[in-house]
Amino acid sequence: MKNDIEIFLFIDALGWELVDRTAFMAEELPFRRRIEMQFGYSSTAIPTILSGRPPAEHGHLGLFRFAPESSPFRLLGKLSPLMRPRSLWNRGRVRHLLSRIIARLYGFTGYFQLYQMPFAKLPLMDYCEKHDLFAPGGMGNVENLRDLLARHKSAYHISDWRAGDTKNFEAARQALRQGKTFLFVYTAELDALLHRYPAPPVADVIRAKLNWYAQEIGTLFETCRELKKTLRLTVISDHGMTPLTRTVDLKSAVEKTPLVFGRDYGACYDSTMFRPTFLAPGAEKVIREAVKPFETCGHWLTEDEEKHYGIYRADRMFGDAVFLMDPGIQIVPSDMGSAPLNGMHGFAPEDKDSQAVILSNDEIPDRIRRVADYFGLMKERIEEKEPERP
Ligand SMILES: [Zn+2]
Repeated sequence: MKNDIEIFLFIDALGWELVDRTAFMAEELPFRRRIEMQFGYSSTAIPTILSGRPPAEHGHLGLFRFAPESSPFRLLGKLSPLMRPRSLWNRGRVRHLLSRIIARLYGFTGYFQLYQMPFAKLPLMDYCEKHDLFAPGGMGNVENLRDLLARHKSAYHISDWRAGDTKNFEAARQALRQGKTFLFVYTAELDALLHRYPAPPVADVIRAKLNWYAQEIGTLFETCRELKKTLRLTVISDHGMTPLTRTVDLKSAVEKTPLVFGRDYGACYDSTMFRPTFLAPGAEKVIREAVKPFETCGHWLTEDEEKHYGIYRADRMFGDAVFLMDPGIQIVPSDMGSAPLNGMHGFAPEDKDSQAVILSNDEIPDRIRRVADYFGLMKERIEEKEPERP
């Protein structure tokens, strides 16, 4: 069936477990499937959703990567000794403000946050989301959703990822009234709530938020009915949320070794994984030894696993090795935070709490099984509507 309007609604962190537990929109969106998460974080999944390519190809895994040769922050390193006391500069609000100033200064158009990356390390780090991934040409040589829609001359609308959920639903209704026929609606507020209130049991605030999404989705159907248009709506997500079980201080264990950061090794400490770069001879052995005590609650990814997850790169851009924590266990402190969150994602994609979802009011093709498959589906629907003219 060809529909007049096609809407893809992205709900960050709407996991299969949560949808299953709450029977979210079971009647209105009866076609539903568990989807394998893209290994990594939202910052990994979103470029995959927007391009259909794995991280190995689009180059986004953790937000930071150890890369002294391409770091845009070399100048900031000179300021680092002046930034005292440390406790002041590490405060969340100060870091938010600084992130905004730095983004402005460097002309970054993408999502930029310093998190808890130490200032002294910044000159050795590169940041992957310097450009707005949703913008035309936002992913460099890789065609993104906007490039594709422009190529097909579609009447499209893509949400502003900087705006809140309420604004994005309102903008979507307005776009429908303006005659747009392909919409990609972006929402991220559920993710923030689930980090604080991961199920189970499903917290009241989460239920309320899900009811709110259901209402807003209802208004999209209503608007289409008023316009006498048929709507095919597909909800997609990137991952679920895994409740915190415990934390590990892997960072201190590595920093206790005699190795010097930047000279002997480099490293990124994400909240669920550790990505070292080995520089000096023998550094790998020392680091693997230091991490040994954590092998009861995490493991080094094999090359096969990296390939399976789409993150293997011969140039080791993401790090020479990846140590992944078991589901529920967070690295604290990390470059991302000094305290644990009640819930986190970025564990093994096979973990039940990691699983994402696709929900629709129409049949979902059988081949759609992983986050990387969404783009192909959007492409097919765009081509259905506006076949490319020679
Ligand atoms: Zn999140």
